[in-house]
Amino acid sequence: MPKLKTKTLTCLVCVFMLSITSYGYNAHTISTKNKETKTIVVPQKIVTKEVILNARLSSFNINEQKIVLMKNIATIEPEMKIAIDAEIEGLKLKVKQKEAEDKQKEIEAKKREIEAKQKALEARQQELKDKIAALEAKQASELPVNTTALGKMKIVSSTNMKNSSGKINYDNMSITINPNIVPYGTIVWIEGLGFRYNHPSDMGSDDNVVHVYFKSQNEANNWDNKKARIYIVQNSGRLDISKNSLVNFENLSTFKLTSYCPCPICCGEYSKPYADKAGSIGTYIYEGVTVAADPSVIPYGSVIYIEGVGIRFVADCGGGINDKHIDVYWRNHQTALDFGTKSENVYLIKQ
Ligand SMILES: [Zn+2]
Repeated sequence: MPKLKTKTLTCLVCVFMLSITSYGYNAHTISTKNKETKTIVVPQKIVTKEVILNARLSSFNINEQKIVLMKNIATIEPEMKIAIDAEIEGLKLKVKQKEAEDKQKEIEAKKREIEAKQKALEARQQELKDKIAALEAKQASELPVNTTALGKMKIVSSTNMKNSSGKINYDNMSITINPNIVPYGTIVWIEGLGFRYNHPSDMGSDDNVVHVYFKSQNEANNWDNKKARIYIVQNSGRLDISKNSLVNFENLSTFKLTSYCPCPICCGEYSKPYADKAGSIGTYIYEGVTVAADPSVIPYGSVIYIEGVGIRFVADCGGGINDKHIDVYWRNHQTALDFGTKSENVYLIKQ
């Protein structure tokens, strides 16, 4: 029985070797002293777990369908060992190269993916820009007056905003924008707030910021740090009061119109140089912005539209200005004389 056992073991080795050669591939035996180290080329399909285990595989490259069998590497002649090591290193290098190529391909694919995302993002940005431009154009077309869009600006609100003559700025009327962007005395329209005019204040004049005075702390809190679209108003000619989707007009009926300037003839003892002229509520008064009215008829800070004259703010009064009488302010005496006396319809603009 022990004899039979030995025979069976021998047969297993034979079967293994036969199974390799029977596929028709050449088996190359490395000539060594103990004949235990072999390099065998085998088809990929027979590289089974058993083959690998039985052969005591040192390394193999599945792409080259080559197995290096080394039962006892220590017994290999030195030059043969070097050759095998070199081959193993070569195979390892090929694997590394393949891995590097795959990695490179992966990076390139990722790069293309990022580029595609970037393009999509740019397209979306353009889409949004177009939408904003369309919205601004639509909004401007709904205003009863020609405008120039300034884009969105941050609102910084204050309940304690003084002008340089020390008076508090007037609610619903004066704001402060950098005069390099919008000159003082220019009327603007602010989305959600309505018509205002640019007036110096102690709040400074940062770019892209609108300082707005609010009488109530609640309203100031509601608006603080919000952004709103700003439009410069071209305050000339007639307003199309049929365009009232953004601006509401209330007809105050016909008023007598006269005019004045800051000269001694017009203002007597209240005469001042134009630049220092403050009206009766302490805000500076500007041509194209200010009118004097009877504050019991049209309250201070009211925004009005005088037909044929334009948008004006009630920021002054006068001894002879009573009832339905408005005095329109001009920079120089001749312009005031040229305006003369008129009778026009006046509308209150509800902000
Ligand atoms: Zn005058």
